[in-house]
Amino acid sequence: MSQDDPRRAIPRTDALLAEPPLAAAAARLGRPPVRAAVTDAQDRARRGEIGPDEVAAAALAALPRRASTLTPVLNATGVVVHTNLGRAPLSPAAVEAVVEAAGYCDVELDLGTGGRGPRGQGARAALLEAVPGAGDALVVNNGAAALVLATTALAAGREVVVSRGEMVEIGDGFRLPDLVASTGARLREVGTTNRTHPQDYADAVGPDTGCVLKVHPSNFRVEGFVCAVGLPELRDLRRPDGSRVPLVADIGSGLLAPDPVLRDEPDAGTALRDGATVVTASGDKLLGGPQAGLVLGEEDAVRRLRRHPLARSLRVDKLTLAALEASVRAPSTPVRDAVHATADELRPRVERLATALGREVVPVTGRVGGGGAPGMPLPGWAVELPVEAVVRLREPAHGLPVVLARVEGGRGLVDVRCIPEDREDDLLAALRAALDEATEGRTP
Ligand SMILES: *Cc1c(COP(=O)(O)O)cnc(C)c1O
Repeated sequence: MSQDDPRRAIPRTDALLAEPPLAAAAARLGRPPVRAAVTDAQDRARRGEIGPDEVAAAALAALPRRASTLTPVLNATGVVVHTNLGRAPLSPAAVEAVVEAAGYCDVELDLGTGGRGPRGQGARAALLEAVPGAGDALVVNNGAAALVLATTALAAGREVVVSRGEMVEIGDGFRLPDLVASTGARLREVGTTNRTHPQDYADAVGPDTGCVLKVHPSNFRVEGFVCAVGLPELRDLRRPDGSRVPLVADIGSGLLAPDPVLRDEPDAGTALRDGATVVTASGDKLLGGPQAGLVLGEEDAVRRLRRHPLARSLRVDKLTLAALEASVRAPSTPVRDAVHATADELRPRVERLATALGREVVPVTGRVGGGGAPGMPLPGWAVELPVEAVVRLREPAHGLPVVLARVEGGRGLVDVRCIPEDREDDLLAALRAALDEATEGRTP
């Protein structure tokens, strides 16, 4: 190699690894992948593919920008609680609470005495304030866990009476009968798929009944010759010895109080008033919080659940408790805002995008999704795009957000319902880039 060979100017590995952006990448990802990326970039410089002064930038560009492989996505599908996109997006207040709880925090410590304190008191207090009719509240990992814990604690080795019309599949092949059977309780099915009467329950209850279970059919609707039994009609079912049969209501969606827009969705407060002994629900559906399972109900029953050994294996993390408390206390959540956004409110936002891109505005129907309000349309507006552009939107491009849009009737649709207003300019940049690429890529 001669003195003036440019390859002599290729920075040494140690020097490159000491450069602040690469040192920061090593702190995030570990040294081996950063070293490999550096070696790779040096090789490219030796082959003359890049200049010696481009080695650091090339190494950096080859490394993932995040420590996690989870890629943030802008949800332009119009489906608010999108299970494949992580269900509820957290509010800024909930994100802040998570960040603050991420270090050491007093999740199980009484700062007054310096001794051990009960875990998760803040989230519990927030839930009890939001649902004054509940005697106690417990938070577990998810809605399925809340249901498993309730049926285990109240009915293991005994019977769970449930209507055939409520033997539902929650999603991802996960079936309620299998879930309940896994707890060691036996299912006692009553009624038929479309019709169940109060007498069906009364006939099934006996000395061996652990509880009656009511499941909200949250992801489908049965219409026509249908009849189901409401909680008020089941609240006073008694075993032959006169003891009251606990009534478990799995409401699914997690509304704590009635929502005027979601008139058909059950809520915890009403279910308890109607006679449920305990209500179970998800934290990351219409409640708009983190993944969690909520149990709200009569003090004695919730205490039985809390003291059951299984409760320990369903315990939630401090990050969940922080996000849940913040979400419950907040006046609104991103999920609630998106569900409540009217077509008139959404129109100017879509029009601004469409005008900037020279595209058309078309009417669309969004959905609550994720097992909530299955029959309820959410009228809104979308920017229309060619399908090729929708495909490009999913590909991570440098500096642009990944966008998930919808394809319907052979065209792409970008619904702004679930796009935070402060991300609209980012969305516009991504749409513009995708449209440019899609037009260039098209054969004339
Ligand atoms: C969603 C849902 C569940 C499961 O809750 P996860 O939080 O997903 O575990 C159970 N029951 C009903 C009625 C639901 O809608």
